Formats: sequence, structure tokens, C-alpha cells
Amino acid sequence: MNLELSEEQEAVRRLARDFVEREVVPHATAWDRAEEVDRGIVEKLGALGFLGLTIDEEYGGSGGDHLAYCLVTEELGRGDSSVRGIVSVSLGLVAKTVAAWGSEEQKRTWLPGLTSGAYVGCFGLTEPGTGSDAGNLSTRAVRDGDDYVVNGTKMFITNGTWADVVLLFARSTDAPGHRGVSAFLVPADASGLTRRAVHGKLGLRGQATAELVLEDVRVPASAMLGPEGKGFPVALSALAKGRMSVAAGCVGIAQAALDAAVRYAGEREQFGRTIAHHQLVQELISDIAVDVDAARLLTWRVADLIDRGKPFAVESSKAKLFASEAAVRAANNALQVFGGYGYIDEYPAGKLLRDARVMTLYEGTSQIQKLVIGRALTGVSAF
Ligand code: FAD
Repeated sequence: MNLELSEEQEAVRRLARDFVEREVVPHATAWDRAEEVDRGIVEKLGALGFLGLTIDEEYGGSGGDHLAYCLVTEELGRGDSSVRGIVSVSLGLVAKTVAAWGSEEQKRTWLPGLTSGAYVGCFGLTEPGTGSDAGNLSTRAVRDGDDYVVNGTKMFITNGTWADVVLLFARSTDAPGHRGVSAFLVPADASGLTRRAVHGKLGLRGQATAELVLEDVRVPASAMLGPEGKGFPVALSALAKGRMSVAAGCVGIAQAALDAAVRYAGEREQFGRTIAHHQLVQELISDIAVDVDAARLLTWRVADLIDRGKPFAVESSKAKLFASEAAVRAANNALQVFGGYGYIDEYPAGKLLRDARVMTLYEGTSQIQKLVIGRALTGVSAF
């Protein structure tokens, strides 16, 4: 296996790193405190092609492979996970799913806007009563002539208040397929759709997370993404790639934790020398470094499998499980290196820890990833 990046991949990484240093890092603390990322960041991300990676140029995409996508995602996660999440959802969960499952008309309607940053997408699967058991949805889509009429509530939807289009999952009435769930592309300004911002999050505070309430929302049958009743496979295929993107974001968090811890250990003096001289501080730093490398390699393996057209879903769960737990450990270890200063938000470790924590929860909790891996190994589903 060749672990060296190509010149093109190195160039994409440099471009992303420069962008993040210039446009994200200087604002990340203020956005976190204000609970709002500046929305102007979306068009800037689009202008650099970061919202079109792996999407065909004929639909406004910027091409590139999944490793390039991981590199950009890592750099964004290193700068601010709230910004990283915007891309992971709008491109990773929505645009890529439209590209994979959409009709020609759906691709032409949504992809140029999503890839340029003119539109933001959100992924509406979770409901107040339905999280891990994601196929067991209460939201209903009832056929009425050429339309479906949708009623239900979606919870914790990233990009929810910003979105122009919702990739919505609902149980459709006449679907004989898998659990009867269908996917729909619903314009966010559809009549009957209201959005309420979710405030008070522990981390990802800059991100526009929302509850979506759908009351008699009329959606044309042509808005269905993929076949009737096949919405659950649509969702699972999106999440399998999405988990790689979360993992790459976690590598970014862990790398930021490492950079900050090394820098601080070289500056802070206790007992007459910098704390980098103390062996137990070196232990904290080396534990972070091993987590960074292991998480990155697991994540790159997923990208490599996708780019070579090989099965990748279980590897994606492994990468997401390990990288999310590693990011929490890494941020926590970095906070320890910072001592009391780690506990206040003028220093980076606390935000990294808060942002990392949710990664073990969304797109399948750590427990759910273990059930996916366990099922693949034993042949027994414990769901
Ligand atoms: P539950 O499913 O109720 O789980 C509670 C606990 O029970 C967990 O520890 C879980 O691991 C455990 N558990 C459940 N079932 C089992 C089992 N079979 N075996 C062992 N343990 C089990 N959703 C979207 O659709 N779109 C988004 O954009 C989105 N963004 C999010 C952003 C944020 C900030 C957050 C917090 C959530 C987001 N989510 C989103 C929702 C997220 O995916 C869910 O929160 C997650 O899937 C867990 O569901 P739940 O919160 O209902 O927890």
C-alpha cells in the first residue's frame, strides 16, 4: 500500500490548510461563543471547490477522489468542527447521495447549487423518538394524486435552519419495500415546514442545528430520491460514506490537539524548565500522537477502498468508532497538558473536547458502530 500523497492531493491539502488558517481559525472562538458560524463561509468553501469534491464536473462538482475529500475534511476539522460539519452534511450526506441515487432532473436541480455553496443541504433522518433505531420512523408520507403529503418531526438536524433543501426520510404509505421508508428532496421553504433552532449544545455550537416540523407538507412524487420503499438503503449508503467524513474530521480535532499540546509544552515552565521536559507530559503528548496516526490510517483506508470500488461500510464504522473515541481522548489529554488554562476558552483544548464529544454520538453512536462491526464478524445481528 502506498501511503504517500500524490502532488494533486498535497496541493488540495495545502489549499485547505491555507484557507482554514486564514478564514476559519481566527473566527472559531468567536463563532463558538456566538453560537453561529458566519454563513458567508459557505460560498467561500464552494468557490474553492470544497463543496463539490468527488462530484462530476458536469453537475458543478470539482471531481477529486475520496482521499482528497478526507484531507480537506481533516483540515476543516482541525480549524473548526462546526465548519467541517457544514461540508460533511451538505456535500457528504446530501449532494453525494443525490449524485448516487438522483434522477437526471434531481441532479440538475440541486447539485450545481449545493456544490457552489448557493444552497445548503440538510439530512433529515432522526426524530424525537427515533435515533439509533433509524428505520423505525414515525414521519409519514401519504400518497395523494401526484403528490405525497408529509407529516412528522425531525430532530437534531445539522444545517437545519440554514438549509435550502432537506433530504427527508419518511415512511411512505404504499411502499412494500424495506420497512417502507422513502427518501424525498424537499425544498426547505415548502409550505407547512417550520424550523426551530436547537440551542445550548455542549459542542459544535457554531452549527445551525434544528428541529424540523412538517405539517401537511406537499411534495411531488418526482421529489422521491431512489425507488419507493428504498429510503432506508439510501440513508445507510449516505451514512456509510458519512462516517468516513466524521472520522476525517476527528483526525483534524486530534491533530489540532497534538499541535496545541506540543506548542504549549514547549512554552510553559514549571519546576524550572518547560513542561516538555517532564516525562509524564511527554506521555500525554505521545498518546495523542499515536491516536492521530492510527485514526488517520484507518480513515485513509476507507477512502482508498471507496476509490477502488471495494466494499467499505464496515471499515467506515471501524474508522468512525476509533477516530471519534480517539479525538475525545486526544482533546482530553491536550487539556491536561494545558492544566488550568485548558479549562477556559481562550485556549483551544476545551473547545476541541466539546466538539469531539458529539462525534461518538451522531451518525451512529459508538455502541451502534460496534453492533455493525460485530454483525459483520459473527453473522449475527444484535440490533
Ligand atoms: P438513542 O438512540 O436514544 O440512544 C441512547 C443510548 O442508547 C446511546 O448510548 C445508544 O448507543 C444506546 N443504544 C441505543 N440502541 C442500542 C442498541 N441496540 N444496543 C446498544 N446500545 C444502544 N440526525 C440526523 O438525522 N441528521 C443530522 O444532521 C443530525 N445531526 C446531529 C447533530 C448533533 C449535534 C446531534 C447531537 C445529533 C445529530 N443527529 C442528526 C442525531 C444523531 O444521529 C442521533 O442523536 C444519534 O443517532 C443517536 O440517537 P439518539 O440521540 O436518539 O439516542
